[in-house]
Amino acid sequence: MRLLEYQAKELLRRAGIPVPRGERVSSEEEVRSVASRLGYPVVLKAQVPVGGRGRAGGVVVAESEESAVREARRILSSRFRGHLPESLLIEEFVSAERELYVGLILDRSARTITLISTPYGGVDVEEAASEHPESLVRVSLDPLVGLLPHHARRVADALLPGSELRRELEEIVSTLWRLSTELDAILLEVNPLAVTDVGLVALDARIEIDDSALFRHPEIPRPPPTWRNPREARAAELGIAYVELDGDIGTVANGAGLAMATMDAVAMAGGRPANFCDVGGGASAERVRGALEIIFSNPRVSTVLFNALCGITRGDEVARGIAMAVRELGISPEDIVVRLDGNMAEEGIRILEEAGLRALRSFREAVREVIPRASG
Ligand code: GDP
Ligand code: MN
Repeated sequence: MRLLEYQAKELLRRAGIPVPRGERVSSEEEVRSVASRLGYPVVLKAQVPVGGRGRAGGVVVAESEESAVREARRILSSRFRGHLPESLLIEEFVSAERELYVGLILDRSARTITLISTPYGGVDVEEAASEHPESLVRVSLDPLVGLLPHHARRVADALLPGSELRRELEEIVSTLWRLSTELDAILLEVNPLAVTDVGLVALDARIEIDDSALFRHPEIPRPPPTWRNPREARAAELGIAYVELDGDIGTVANGAGLAMATMDAVAMAGGRPANFCDVGGGASAERVRGALEIIFSNPRVSTVLFNALCGITRGDEVARGIAMAVRELGISPEDIVVRLDGNMAEEGIRILEEAGLRALRSFREAVREVIPRASG
């Protein structure tokens, strides 16, 4: 679960890391009163659970009440990567000499937490990292040992050599480590960590908490339901594993491994998967229909690859669900490519043919078939 910036900053502030003074607001009246209390210029920041706001116009400096109100209105009615801001964070403007980046990221495959830092932080951190790869400091932290003083020193050596703010940076790095452990964070990032004339200030923070550990943190507010992609929320209600991506070919399979292999095969054949979807083992016709309804309600999707390799799941049951979706949801049989094999496949294929769908037994052929349909 990703926290909003204002929530992340509150946690940083409580842990003793300097953040700008600010308040969360959602009405024009509040914009006026908070901004005048803080004093102009102020920074207005869209509170959305996605990054890249700076470039998208979701972070602006306002010099006057007039511009603060105008910008607040604009931001609150704009979408940022599909998200309408739930509120605005208004902060005092902090003048930054330099912008650093410090992050702690869980590396599942290495079973460590990687401490990453670069002196080239800010909105262009990705470009900076590829332009100055030597500037990127990566330190693998063993979660059982934790952060040791020399790890923090390495960051300070790279980011602030010879600076009197070194100690402060080492402190901040060690506080971030403690916070990320306490919060069960899979990601904790400060970008930018600004070098100012009053020391280091966290101008932006991103914290993602391990969903599996959320039960240990009842104190952390849960996101309002509107945060969630509505299709993902609907799938969760139906017990279907569905994660949206940004391609245009819908994919669905019975079993998480097969669902991933299906996305990989589509991508390797030059297509762009629109989602991950696992209807699970032993899926009923209703669940299959539900999955197709969700996948097709994504406006980017026109074609779906249904990959069913049946074992516990029955091929005839899957076929009945697909036929039901075609009949009841007005989906054209042309828009679903079905691969059906395994348990009760013959019966399933017969049901699909009756519904006007052609089913293939070969995964490879099904992939080959779906790619041109999507691009056509
Ligand atoms: P992001 O683009 O979603 O990561 O949003 P950020 O909160 O990082 O804001 C984008 C950029 O705006 C930052 O990299 C800073 O350069 C700038 N910024 C944000 N707040 C302030 C501030 O208080 N003072 C200054 N000088 N710059 C700010
Ligand atoms: Mn940022």
